[in-house]
Amino acid sequence: MLKAQETVLEIDLKALKHNFDHLKSRISSNTKFMAVVKAFAYGSDACEIANYLQKLPVDYFAVAFVHEGIQLREAGITKPILVLHPQAVNFNILIENCLEPSIYNVKILNEFIATASAEKLNDYPIHIKFNTGLNRLGFSENDVDTIISTVNESTSVKIESVFSHLAASEDLNEKDFTLNQIKKFKNITENMTKQMGYKPLLHMCNTSGILNYPEAHFDMVRSGIGLYGFGNSEKENKNFKPIGTLKTIISQIHAIEKGESVGYNRAYKTDTFLRTATLPIGHADGIGRQYGKGKGYVIINNQKAYILGNVCMDMIMVDVTNIDCKEGDEVIVFGPETTAENLAKTANTISYELITAISQRVKRLFIGN
Ligand SMILES: *Cc1c(COP(=O)(O)O)cnc(C)c1O
Repeated sequence: MLKAQETVLEIDLKALKHNFDHLKSRISSNTKFMAVVKAFAYGSDACEIANYLQKLPVDYFAVAFVHEGIQLREAGITKPILVLHPQAVNFNILIENCLEPSIYNVKILNEFIATASAEKLNDYPIHIKFNTGLNRLGFSENDVDTIISTVNESTSVKIESVFSHLAASEDLNEKDFTLNQIKKFKNITENMTKQMGYKPLLHMCNTSGILNYPEAHFDMVRSGIGLYGFGNSEKENKNFKPIGTLKTIISQIHAIEKGESVGYNRAYKTDTFLRTATLPIGHADGIGRQYGKGKGYVIINNQKAYILGNVCMDMIMVDVTNIDCKEGDEVIVFGPETTAENLAKTANTISYELITAISQRVKRLFIGN
């Protein structure tokens, strides 16, 4: 590991490989693997991550939006890319870039078929998404006949896969709910497959689904957070290695006298002597204001230094009164040991939110290739 001289997000490709291998060890060898690289590969770097994963036995990539898929194509990704949430306005460029749309309602199905027919396409792969309980995106069970007749009327599209998404795969208190989602999905896909006359790929599991519901792996699984090093439970976290370490340095140390305050709005006032460190990372880098006022912390020389007062746009001030440190010392915001999941908890949020918020201003540095 390199010593930080500025704020950097160090990304360990060896850890990514470890996580991928672990996920593969949890699925059968004929189950396909879709790597979810939306949102800059969960705040890391989608192009670098996808290019690394493309050399491994990854079958599919997934992104949320069309422009994310285009970036992957421009970076040389040739494997199939599913766009989980495309909008009709982008269908032409989606097709131009050989991206494959998730189709989640009758309106978007008709719009896509209209575009595909106008472009005189044949059997363009589409992915039919069903809502089985998340109530976010997806057809309902009652739409099966409409989907089949609409698709059959056109030669321009072909149903490549049928999928759904679990609402609480990480929460074992909701096991009955999840099992019901799986059952629903089985019923829907049996009906679909019968009417289609061939078997599309079926997929349902995200990372926690892979880990907790092996009976729902079907033909393919979709993993995001697991690749980036989180198993969404204490037990499963031990099997993964967080790939990202967010580091910074101490820019300045201040001695604060009794009665003084720290930062904007004088949000921290001290009645004792205090030593503070100012760090070049703020809410514009992804450390939101909710981490301020003593909630969040960073690690300096293996000790927790809590954030004092309000998080500024480009800086935070942390309490180093009892920490042996000096200007220029390295600071760990999160990493393999003090994880993003733990820091996220201090602000009542989850690892997903903290890591995807690391803004594009923060330099990405790759190690372990
Ligand atoms: C984001 C997403 C995933 C990945 O979920 P993880 O919990 O990160 O593994 C899978 N499927 C869909 C539909 C998603 O939106």
